[in-house]
Amino acid sequence: MTKCKFFLLLILLAPFPIMAAEAHVHGVATLQLALDDSLLHLNLSSPLDSLLGFEHQPRTEKQKAAVRHMADQLHQAERLFQPTMAARCTLKTYSLESPVLQTGKHKEHEHEGHEHADLDAEFVFYCAKPNELRDLEVNLFTYFPGLLRLKTEAATPRGQSAAMLTPSKRRIAW
Ligand SMILES: [Zn+2]
Repeated sequence: MTKCKFFLLLILLAPFPIMAAEAHVHGVATLQLALDDSLLHLNLSSPLDSLLGFEHQPRTEKQKAAVRHMADQLHQAERLFQPTMAARCTLKTYSLESPVLQTGKHKEHEHEGHEHADLDAEFVFYCAKPNELRDLEVNLFTYFPGLLRLKTEAATPRGQSAAMLTPSKRRIAW
């Protein structure tokens, strides 16, 4: 209870809301990193607004181009995420999930109005020397200027850690 009240107080006092990882806050995204043997899993969850500037289905050509551009940037995960060079990690698989990336018929009504929408992505790297993995450079801020903060959580054999990345602090180390 005390902890709960303390947290509430923090929220009231903070100039920006401090939220749980699940919260949808424009300008903020979360990244969860997990190292499992040789596989480095990165799970990115972001309000579409942080990556795209809007959250409804694209209607104009400009908006459709913006969605394609976002997807193109996310396809180049080796540019966005740079694990420790010595660990020799290469991208193995990735998946992107978002209402604006669905093909076929949209249930347009569901996305109209003031509803929020997210993008969830998973990137899996294979690391030839996982023991050498000590840090990750995150370049999302370069390609997505609408992203202002990235909450990160890392779980590796060395333990768990959390950090807040910003355009001037882009590296997680563990
Ligand atoms: Zn939103």
